[in-house]
Amino acid sequence: MKIDILGCGSAFSRWQNTSALRVLDDNHQWLIDCGPTVPRALWQRDGDINDIDVIFFTHVHPDHCAGLMALLNYWKSFSRQKPLIIYSQAEQRPVLMQLARLANWPASTLSFEIEWRDTTTSWCWQNWQIETAFTQHEIANHAIRLSIGSHSLFYSGDGRPTPESVALMTASDLAFQECASLTPLADDASHGDFPGCLELFNTLGLPRLGLYHCYDATLPELKQACLPYPGLFVSEDGLQYDYQQQQFSHGTYPL
Ligand SMILES: [Zn+2]
Repeated sequence: MKIDILGCGSAFSRWQNTSALRVLDDNHQWLIDCGPTVPRALWQRDGDINDIDVIFFTHVHPDHCAGLMALLNYWKSFSRQKPLIIYSQAEQRPVLMQLARLANWPASTLSFEIEWRDTTTSWCWQNWQIETAFTQHEIANHAIRLSIGSHSLFYSGDGRPTPESVALMTASDLAFQECASLTPLADDASHGDFPGCLELFNTLGLPRLGLYHCYDATLPELKQACLPYPGLFVSEDGLQYDYQQQQFSHGTYPL
């Protein structure tokens, strides 16, 4: 199992891609979220048009889904044939279908099938186990825990942790939590903050917790704040993690 961070920027970051990652095993790939700059990050990796089996959407704010149109258009333009599965919350699917429609408008079909599936709290895909839980966000957002064998990833999507999302984060090998502020936000806020992330890191004894979706201006201070805590880090575009080797590396090369 490998993770490839395509982007970890906030919605309007000047320097980072919008937040998204790939999860890979030997034969399969998932893309989690697809904001506006994510297609370019994929093209920089020079992968195959059939590499990605599944796209999972945490929620449909534009910085997490607006790249879908360009990515589908790219696959169509290069004659992808492999069917694609798209998982989303049932209520949010119509928004994504509009983007898919625009990907090849006025034609009504692409060169490949899209299988639209609704997320639930727990399901299996191939030999992957997937679990979701709501965070506290402006619109419904699904945090995801993805496990292959004994390896697991937690990815918050956007939003403040909830007891349910914290339960998913617990005992994950590698976790990513959205963190919009160095200082505490109100309990009813819709974003994570550094004090909350630090508390989770410590109380859950997480081996690796990456903060992401941080505002550009807060990055230097957040990186400084993480320094005393090995395993707690500010995520970066192009960061990759290999579960087998338990090692991070950096690059935009194909995995
Ligand atoms: Zn966002």
